[in-house]
Amino acid sequence: MTSIAPGASPSVEARQLVKKYGVVTAVDGVSFAVQRGEIFGFLGANGAGKTTTLRMLCGLLTPTSGTAVIDGIDILKDPLSVKARMGYLDEEPFVHPHLTGREFLNFVADLYRMPRGAQREQRMERLLGLFELANRDGELIGAYSHGMRQKIGLASLLIREPSVLLLDEPTNGLDPRSARLVKDLLEELASRGTTVLLSTHILEVAQALCRRVAIIDRGRITATGTMDELRAQAGSEQASLEELFLKLTAGPESRELIERLLA
Ligand code: ATP
Repeated sequence: MTSIAPGASPSVEARQLVKKYGVVTAVDGVSFAVQRGEIFGFLGANGAGKTTTLRMLCGLLTPTSGTAVIDGIDILKDPLSVKARMGYLDEEPFVHPHLTGREFLNFVADLYRMPRGAQREQRMERLLGLFELANRDGELIGAYSHGMRQKIGLASLLIREPSVLLLDEPTNGLDPRSARLVKDLLEELASRGTTVLLSTHILEVAQALCRRVAIIDRGRITATGTMDELRAQAGSEQASLEELFLKLTAGPESRELIERLLA
């Protein structure tokens, strides 16, 4: 796991976030804080409440109660200031199927009023080159593979250099080389001060990138901290992140379920 400068003020704060859908409480009092320049992992099983939490933190969903604070700004009070400094990658990236990758990046850059000119062109070309999309000019995004859509989605955030990145499963659907590229890129951005909050099912990604993680289980945080803190909490000194994850998220053992199925 990587290290961060101590003593920095929180860049992302979830304060007692609750989201109810009718009788379903998807998120039930989630709180954590991510420091500036930190890569923080948000882990949980399918349906645990990760996407719902991230969508509240980026302003796409209004919490039933609780507060999302980005760089000290309450997102409900000043959503536009938060939007200007944040990049959010949804689990299904928002991309425009009828544009080429280059057109889409220009579209996003225009939306965010980035001045046209050589600097913007250069950044766009570098991003397209980095994600191996530079030679796809004849193709519309609608014809892209899932991994390519993921990459153009990431590029569309990075073109405007946000100081906070909220990424829902950023390596989902990426081949090993692209996944490695994204990991290296996030490490480099964090070392330059970008805050990264990422949700993932891939525990190696979290273990390699994140100094601290939070584990969410059925809408509630069951553990937050460094690997050592999680091990202490679970009472297993030598446990891997996978073992900790399984211990800190409830549910019958898979062996038991398999035996029941095959009985
Ligand atoms: P996954 O890893 O599978 O993407 P997740 O941890 O991101 O899961 P969420 O998508 O946040 O989980 O869902 C949390 C819970 O809220 C689930 O029980 C889900 O069925 C429920 N939920 C999410 N969105 C809605 C909705 N629009 N209406 C009703 N229930 C919803």
